[in-house]
Amino acid sequence: MKIASFCVKEVENKRTTKSHVLPIYPTSSFVFESVEQSIDIFSGKEEGHKYSRYGNPTSDAVAQKIADLESFGLEIEAEGLLCGTGMSAISTLLLSLVKEGDGILTQGNIYGGTTELFMNNFGRLGIKTHLQSLNDITACEATLKNDDSIKLIYLETPANPSLACIDLEKIVALAKSYNCITVIDNTFCTPLLQQPFKYGVDYVIHSTTKFINGHGNSLSGAIIFRKDDERKKDIWNSMKLLGTPCAPFDAWLIHNGMKTLALRMKKHCENGQLVAEFLEGHEKIIKVNYPGLASHPDHEIACKQMKNGFGAMLSFEIDSDIDGMKRFMNQLQLAVMAPTLGDVDTLVLHPATSSHLNIDKEIRIRNGITDGLVRISIGIEDIADITEDLAQALEVV
Ligand SMILES: *Cc1c(COP(=O)(O)O)cnc(C)c1O
Repeated sequence: MKIASFCVKEVENKRTTKSHVLPIYPTSSFVFESVEQSIDIFSGKEEGHKYSRYGNPTSDAVAQKIADLESFGLEIEAEGLLCGTGMSAISTLLLSLVKEGDGILTQGNIYGGTTELFMNNFGRLGIKTHLQSLNDITACEATLKNDDSIKLIYLETPANPSLACIDLEKIVALAKSYNCITVIDNTFCTPLLQQPFKYGVDYVIHSTTKFINGHGNSLSGAIIFRKDDERKKDIWNSMKLLGTPCAPFDAWLIHNGMKTLALRMKKHCENGQLVAEFLEGHEKIIKVNYPGLASHPDHEIACKQMKNGFGAMLSFEIDSDIDGMKRFMNQLQLAVMAPTLGDVDTLVLHPATSSHLNIDKEIRIRNGITDGLVRISIGIEDIADITEDLAQALEVV
């Protein structure tokens, strides 16, 4: 062999003992030992990785771990797929479940990107989205009765920005009686706080970018389904053909973060509850939206289906105009102004001057996004530092 060919050759894998930590497989393809093996793998007789868009050992292992958490302690087995972002997990799943002419029933207050995807991109494909409060079971039933093209109910609980909770048991019972598929985005809770499979939900979605990773250093999403799900081949096909799998390095980062998920969620919830109580008692605060507060309209639903705590997401309304809100936001020292959530550090967002800046003021206010509304993702810092920071910033409002 000439030196130019030798340079191109792959090196020998020197692994002797098993690595303690999940390796990253940054490879686009996998090698067949023989034509016979290629036939066996492509015909499905033998399991084997082929090409990383179809599946990659790093991503597959991490997807299985999230699936195991979603089914942890339940009498079901689950599996999953890891996608490049939360949004690609949503589009990949939904495009394998609905087709032209089908309808989706969802609430108006889910993640903004999801609403936009449904209304615009899916709308163009002839998939119609109906927006309605999913807590009003009677109204939902009337909608389903009226329109038998609705094939899927899509929900988030708790949902942005009001942290409204939806009774999973009730909505699943309704969906089943109208042969509708149920999909939940469980990003805010993670399986540590809420396991939707327990209530009969069909599919669970995560933006693993948020709490599951927890450190804000990767974008990824997960689709979780029951092991015996009849559509799992279609979903995998949809990931393969839309080209939406997660990169192995990002999968590896999620796995790294997940090792402390239980510890982090415990601290997130403790801090979330304490911040909510602190804000509720503050004279400049009009309203605090947190499902762990007895004053929250859906507190009872949250108590029923959220275990181990009520999460780290809350929103609150300051008695202030835009100018006062600018002073408040700029005065924060510890809390970071960033349009994400679920990281170990406390993150704040003022929707009226960021995520909702380009939305008509009237529509924005009708959806509860007032000038004084702040969304906060409580971190795992010492609680005294978080409340002190909020207190000193509230002084300049
Ligand atoms: C961030 C988020 C998404 C979108 O996830 P990406 O990873 O940013 O694509 C979807 N749902 C919820 C609830 C989110 O917070």
